Amino acid sequence: MDVPMARTQSPDDLIVEAAAIVTVDPGWRILSPGYIAVKDRRISALGPAAEGRLRSAKRRVEAPRAFLMPGMVNTHTHISMAAFRGACEDIPNRLTKVIFPLERDLVTRDLTYWSALYCLAEMARSGTTTFADMYYFEDEVAKATDKAGLRAILGETVLGHAAPDAPEGYGGIDYARNFIRDWDGHPRIEPCLAPHAPYTVDAEHLAQIVREAKKLDVKIMMHVAEMDFEHEKFSRLGGSVLRYLDSIPGLLSPRLLAVHMLYLDDADINLAAQRGLRVAHCPASNAKSGRLICPASRLQSAGVPLGLATDGPLSGNGMDMQGVLNLFPKMQKVREGRRDIVTAREAVRAATLGGAEALGLDGDIGSLEIGKKADFILVDLDDFNIQPVYDWYSTIVYAMRPHNVISVYIDGDEVVAQRRMTGFDQDEVFRRMGQIADDCAKYISRISPA
Ligand SMILES: [Zn+2]
Repeated sequence: MDVPMARTQSPDDLIVEAAAIVTVDPGWRILSPGYIAVKDRRISALGPAAEGRLRSAKRRVEAPRAFLMPGMVNTHTHISMAAFRGACEDIPNRLTKVIFPLERDLVTRDLTYWSALYCLAEMARSGTTTFADMYYFEDEVAKATDKAGLRAILGETVLGHAAPDAPEGYGGIDYARNFIRDWDGHPRIEPCLAPHAPYTVDAEHLAQIVREAKKLDVKIMMHVAEMDFEHEKFSRLGGSVLRYLDSIPGLLSPRLLAVHMLYLDDADINLAAQRGLRVAHCPASNAKSGRLICPASRLQSAGVPLGLATDGPLSGNGMDMQGVLNLFPKMQKVREGRRDIVTAREAVRAATLGGAEALGLDGDIGSLEIGKKADFILVDLDDFNIQPVYDWYSTIVYAMRPHNVISVYIDGDEVVAQRRMTGFDQDEVFRRMGQIADDCAKYISRISPA
């Protein structure tokens, strides 16, 4: 009994008091006003603000004109593609015609690191605390993420053809094995395997990746049912992309984060639920590609954990979660022809706890509850775009913008303070991106259509 007594009597590390706390807990509790206390990187208490004043803390933040909510979870990115944002838009078959050649010729270790840091600043400053990423030189993304202080699941991309960091096809598997070994056990970074897609990784290698993932006990993330040509190819082979993937032993399981999931029929939705798949939904990049709208609300109704994602900066452009949070319910309403589908409250859940569930991290993050990790954001209420507030969920989904985010806490550390990164010199990163863009510009103008 001595230990818990001592723990409750020693001061908290941090107390933040705010105009409101949107908890996204099972009871949808909103404390207005409220406080949150942090001790040993976890939430030690939360409640009405007056009660908070009775607690002692090493640091106290009073924010009567701001509200607090869980940090947002971006379930699919390629952050190092920040260097290419805005290049070669509106081209059919952009992946094969533009992106793969661009990456082959321009992606280096240096570009991967500095572009990642650049994108991390954009993500954190707009309220993202956790993200999932897949790219090349993923160890550089891990180094940048560690420096910035964010939480992430990071996957080394595996492809059947040469990649920027692997001259031989499937060289990514060896790269991934080393990457996973080097980053295993990091408190905020979880390495994993990331086969690119069913059309770039054959069945034999997908089966090998499943065996590796089980052996190393890591997750798998993969683009699934995103492309029209993929849909046509695998519809002939197995009835659908998902049913083809189900023929690979052990692939469709809770270990798999399936990204996109556009070409699904009712049988696929049931299959996804039966196998326990998790889904990353990217409404902005999907809309730009002019394909289908993911049946996201149907997947959720079937019980599939679903989170939201920006996708990479070349496909989704904006790396703030506000952009996709705003688009998600609107596109589902259009898809289903119903105004009452995907309420603002459900959308907020998808951007926070839903994302945590999709990444298998909901025991630790995604909502503000005692015992969970102290990942939360403080949002300014003193701005033209955000007032008046009648419904906190509507405000978060439809009115809040990235610039409203003042401070971001991850593991109780202030990773963004007064809109500036605390882990690195963001002005230096901004300058480095300018140099990288100058180097890329000539190549990009050469491959851009006239
Ligand atoms: Zn992607």
